[in-house]
Amino acid sequence: MEDKLIAYILPVSGMKDGTHHFDFKVDKSFFSSFPDTYIQDAAVDVHLVFDKRTAMYVLDFEFEGDIRTTCDRCTEEMWLDIKSEEQLLVKFSDTPSKDAEVVHVPLGIESFSVAQYIYEFICLAIPMTKTHDDIDKDCPEAIWKYLAPEEEAIEKEEKSNPFKDAFKDLNIK
Ligand SMILES: [Zn+2]
Repeated sequence: MEDKLIAYILPVSGMKDGTHHFDFKVDKSFFSSFPDTYIQDAAVDVHLVFDKRTAMYVLDFEFEGDIRTTCDRCTEEMWLDIKSEEQLLVKFSDTPSKDAEVVHVPLGIESFSVAQYIYEFICLAIPMTKTHDDIDKDCPEAIWKYLAPEEEAIEKEEKSNPFKDAFKDLNIK
C-alpha cells in the first residue's frame, strides 16, 4: 500500500463496537495512486460512518465535491460537481462475496483499507456522459458550433427506447 493511502486504513481490531466517524479529503494525490484513472484532480469531502457490529461492519459513505476531468463534448478539462451516498457491508468469511455491495474479510482482521472503495464509489458518482453544464456558455464556442449536429443525434439516440429498438430488429429478420 502506498504511503498516500495510509490514512485510509482503519484500525478495526482496536475500535469499540458502535459507530465511528471519519472524514477524508480526497485530492489529486489520492487519485495518482490509481494509475488507470481518468480523474486528473479532485477536491471531494468524504464522510464515513463506520458501524462496528459483532457480525459485520456497516459503512455509510457521503461524497461531496468536485473532480477534474475532460468534457466529452469539447475535450477541455473541467470541474464536475459530484454528490452521492453509498453503503458497504463487510462480513466475515473466508470465501469471496458474490454480492457487489458486500465484502468478505477473514474474521479477526486488524485493519481495513477503505481507499479502493472510496475510489470506486467516486467513479460511480460520475455520470456516463461528462460534459460542461451549458453547451452555449461553457464549451468553447468554436467547438460547440462544430459539434452541434452530432449533439442532436446523440440526444435523439438517448431518448429512444432500447426495448423498442430490439423489437424493430426482430421485425427486420
Ligand atoms: Zn465542454
